[in-house]
Amino acid sequence: MRVEEAKQAILRRLVPIAETEHVELRAALGRVLALDIVSPINVPQHDNSAMDGYALRAADIGELGGAGEITLRIAGEALAGRPYAGVHGAGHCVLITTGAVLPKGCDCVVPQELVLSASNEVVRLAHGVVKAGANCRRAGEDLRAGSIALSAGKVLRPADVGLLASLGIAAVAVKRRLRVAFFSTGDELRSLGQDLEPGCVYDSNRYTLHAMLARLGVEAIDLGVVRDDPAALQAALERGCREADAIVTSGGVSVGAADHTREIMAQMGAVDFWKIAMRPGRPMAFGSVNAGTKSAWLFGLPGNPVAVMVSFYLIARDALLHLAGASDAALPLLRMPCRGTLRKKPGRTEFQRGMLMCDDAGRSRVRAFDEQGSGILRSMSEANCIIVLEHERGDVADGEDVDVILFDGLV
Ligand code: AMP
Ligand code: MG
Repeated sequence: MRVEEAKQAILRRLVPIAETEHVELRAALGRVLALDIVSPINVPQHDNSAMDGYALRAADIGELGGAGEITLRIAGEALAGRPYAGVHGAGHCVLITTGAVLPKGCDCVVPQELVLSASNEVVRLAHGVVKAGANCRRAGEDLRAGSIALSAGKVLRPADVGLLASLGIAAVAVKRRLRVAFFSTGDELRSLGQDLEPGCVYDSNRYTLHAMLARLGVEAIDLGVVRDDPAALQAALERGCREADAIVTSGGVSVGAADHTREIMAQMGAVDFWKIAMRPGRPMAFGSVNAGTKSAWLFGLPGNPVAVMVSFYLIARDALLHLAGASDAALPLLRMPCRGTLRKKPGRTEFQRGMLMCDDAGRSRVRAFDEQGSGILRSMSEANCIIVLEHERGDVADGEDVDVILFDGLV
């Protein structure tokens, strides 16, 4: 199964959670907006000045580019928060600061730096130094009253929180947080604080899973390490059904081995076991499991430390965000030349750990790490991006364009 098919098959089955709650604006960061926000006001409310200077009527200072000068009397001042009460008269101007309401009858602002000279009473200007509309912000140019300011499904970012504040909105309806339970499976796993006996490894996946879920903004419920034992697995899945909307597991979904995970998962609901044409992260389980009247979506991810992260980001992430009610989940792809050659087999999508860099001319380039083993977590830690090599693609020559997903974004 291709990566895209797997993603579509998952999205087709999932139904976003419906429950909402009201949160205060500061607590809304990272939450999923539940309802469209219609702007109750114009932002800004009035035409206002974009500069410090003098507000006047363009017709009073002659033709644009005309020769000569004109002197205008200063009739008063308009300050931010303290509007000019009078009405503009011919031959006059009003001292104005940035953000102050444009006085009635004025249609432009001459900025301070274009003034020839000024005293407390008069200003001397060149003819036609600005035209009508210059240096003014129009009422409603940011947001118009009655228009949709933010759409339901948006994951709120800093600018959205500020935008809501600019509308005077102090609390918003958001989807309740998605609850995601997670656990690791494997007899070889040791928890932190335990002795590392021969042949054992520390359970790192539970920590990467917890960290990835926390970054997604969901409520993460840690169900611990589960032994390769049918009763223990069943108990963990049952608890997940009771406490969570979705369960993410690591390990035990590949064919063979002493893994009972597949068996138990299959018994407890409708779960499909896939071999996805991807690397890393080939085996994966998806479906729903039940315990009594409760059920939860199940994402059974592979156990290898890099594979679990790649399958989480490239397959489970969009699905979990969709479940959480988010409508704009897709990660942006950047296209840039690859430095060095890459080995790639056609017939599977490869996600290689990469390093973004600049060449001497300041252009972006990406280089792949030499070590692409699915157990080498260090390379995931050192990388700052993932290079996506499409299903059909073969080897990549030096300088060929490739798609890249960045690990970090600005907002
Ligand atoms: P599995 O998918 O269960 O066959 O595991 C594949 C490989 O990943 C094995 O080498 C495991 O030891 C390793 N592995 C599985 N789960 C974890 C984990 N939670 N933390 C670190 N390594 C793991
Ligand atoms: Mg295992």
